[in-house]
Amino acid sequence: MNNVFVYCEIEEGQVADVSLELLTKGRKLADDLKCELEAIVIGHELKGVEKQVMPFGVDKVWIADDKRLYPYTTLPHTSILVKLFEEEKPQIALMGATSIGRDLGPRVSSALHSGLTADCTSLVIGDHEDKKNKKEYKDLLYQIRPAFGGNIVATIINPDCRPQMATVREGVMKKEIVSDAYKGKVKNIDVEKYVKPEDFVIKVIERHMEKSKVNIKNAGIIVAGGYGVGSKENFALLTELAEVIGGEVGASRAAVDAGFASHERQIGQTGVTVRPKLYIACGISGQIQHTAGMEESAMVIAINTDKNAPINAFADYVITGDIATVLPKMIKQYKEN
Ligand code: FAD
Repeated sequence: MNNVFVYCEIEEGQVADVSLELLTKGRKLADDLKCELEAIVIGHELKGVEKQVMPFGVDKVWIADDKRLYPYTTLPHTSILVKLFEEEKPQIALMGATSIGRDLGPRVSSALHSGLTADCTSLVIGDHEDKKNKKEYKDLLYQIRPAFGGNIVATIINPDCRPQMATVREGVMKKEIVSDAYKGKVKNIDVEKYVKPEDFVIKVIERHMEKSKVNIKNAGIIVAGGYGVGSKENFALLTELAEVIGGEVGASRAAVDAGFASHERQIGQTGVTVRPKLYIACGISGQIQHTAGMEESAMVIAINTDKNAPINAFADYVITGDIATVLPKMIKQYKEN
């Protein structure tokens, strides 16, 4: 009773990275609350899926395995979560802020009248004093997310409704195995009892998956370009440097909006969150909406004509200069060594 629950997304038999990141966070929250962590996996051909989640410190995994449950459709997944949460009464329920989580989370929270904070970037446990009503609350989930275009950080609490529900952006939390030997229980969900036949009204006949060739989320080195790069043609310099040093090309939103790079390369609040070993920011000013997506990079090199550019505050090394001069020198240097 009153545990932390994480809805785990499945793609071709694999639990999504964002779900593993949430299990890692869920384990920490459960430890703080001295309760258990439970995972829910809904899909088809899930044999052995528990082995993917248990190492993240899961005490119980609920599995709903039925061929009508994969690929994801809204109604059956909603029915399973709503019924399970009504029975188990979690104090916290988390899911990824993905297209699935953004569809499923609000439906579940509305059915349970629980409220939901979307797109969180941090979750912590804290207390709250409601001075007006003279009430004290212990161990609430502080749901933290940027608001007003990233200009403020909002902390949202939900003192009276349960579960406290949140969706969390991909990549903002680290995934960390607790122990490969971690052993939890497995509970199979009887799909016929949880899902009404009319919930299966939508049938997926065929799926065409567009496989992205871009993988900036997991790249160890990123050469990112901003509006200061000046043109799509100049971005070729970034691509060349990235190829030489084994990295991927990223971009600021201004560079994407200007058509210098594709949207899938956008880093920041409305793009991807990255944490590479090396981030080379070329002609990027360093507005908060951009740095929100790269500030956890292990090392940052900023190349900018403006010695006072805000990105420099995040940089380990600052090169004050024009990318048209600096990048060819770097490429030459790396090629020679
Ligand atoms: P600019 O701010 O125009 O900076 C260009 C930089 O290039 C300057 O510092 C300049 O000195 C330098 N420069 C110019 N010429 C050269 C040269 N030849 N050589 C070297 N340096 C040069 N932004 C994101 O990046 N990601 C997001 O996800 C994102 N989400 C947003 C969400 C919302 C709701 C809003 C309101 C904004 C968002 N933005 C996002 C936009 C953000 O506020 C900034 O506008 C954007 O990051 C600026 O991009 P930039 O640094 O490339 O451009």
